[in-house]
Amino acid sequence: GHLPDPGLVQQLVAEAHARFAPVTDGQNASYIPALASVPSDLFGICVAGTGGGLHAVGDAAHEFSIQSISKPFVFALVCQAIGEDEARRRLGVNSTGYPFNSVIAAERSRDGLSNPMVNAGAIATTSLAPGASAEVKWQFVRDGLSRFAGRPLRLDEEVYRSESSANQRNTGIANLLQSHERIYFDPIQATDIYTRQCALGVTTRDLAIMAATLANGGVNPVTGETVVDAIHCQHVLAVMVTAGLYEHSGDWLYDTGLPGKSGVSGGMICVAPGKGGLATFAPPLDAAGNSVKGQLTARFLSHALGLNLFASL
Ligand code: GLN
Repeated sequence: GHLPDPGLVQQLVAEAHARFAPVTDGQNASYIPALASVPSDLFGICVAGTGGGLHAVGDAAHEFSIQSISKPFVFALVCQAIGEDEARRRLGVNSTGYPFNSVIAAERSRDGLSNPMVNAGAIATTSLAPGASAEVKWQFVRDGLSRFAGRPLRLDEEVYRSESSANQRNTGIANLLQSHERIYFDPIQATDIYTRQCALGVTTRDLAIMAATLANGGVNPVTGETVVDAIHCQHVLAVMVTAGLYEHSGDWLYDTGLPGKSGVSGGMICVAPGKGGLATFAPPLDAAGNSVKGQLTARFLSHALGLNLFASL
């Protein structure tokens, strides 16, 4: 299958923007001080096809920190590096039903496993990046995410400093993981690399290309580079389906029928396997930390573009 013809995609993307731009529900994340001050009315949408076509509208060139949308991509890179069976054995792939920053996620299952879409499993995933030093692991993460985006991504120093100064929960989660032997590098350094990973700057356009790379069996449709093998994309999408929107993942799937991933800066991606990726950016979040306009846009476009994986027509 393919996306509808380019003219229609562009028209529907523009319609989604016009429809949902007036929505004022939700609030910017405030626990990371630098995110609270981002203008709440920024709104970008971009669809990227597996053929490399891009359809952007609104603030799709505005740069913001990737936050939790880094998680599926770092998981893909780690699966590629250590193998999908070992990654599953050491991280877990079951949903927790708890909020993204839950300490319970690392504690409830007796074995300390969660999944790579919540902070506990994501910090453990980052700790598995190849390399003996924090610097080498960080290069691996940054370079890999940059290959997904098709351009070198830069650290947003302000967001990194801001989150580092308010990182008590993630530090606690990392220490708890260590008590279960479920973190595979120094917990403080692993948390720091994870915090950097979350502070990489991306645009909505970058995220659409990253999502389309997952839709395209790991080949970036713009640069043509193979970032990871296709088998890893399948596994990543499976985990996104059950846990990409945390405790609201069931509602999300009911609405869109697609793997998705959100982040607290207000970004969101959806992946339509074989067809393309949808990305949105709009900072105000709902109670689970998912962009309000992003979810409305995804629901509308999944239906309008015929992307729902469970639809029989
Ligand atoms: N860096 C954020 C955190 O660890 C990412 C969370 C998110 O985007 N949901 O709290």
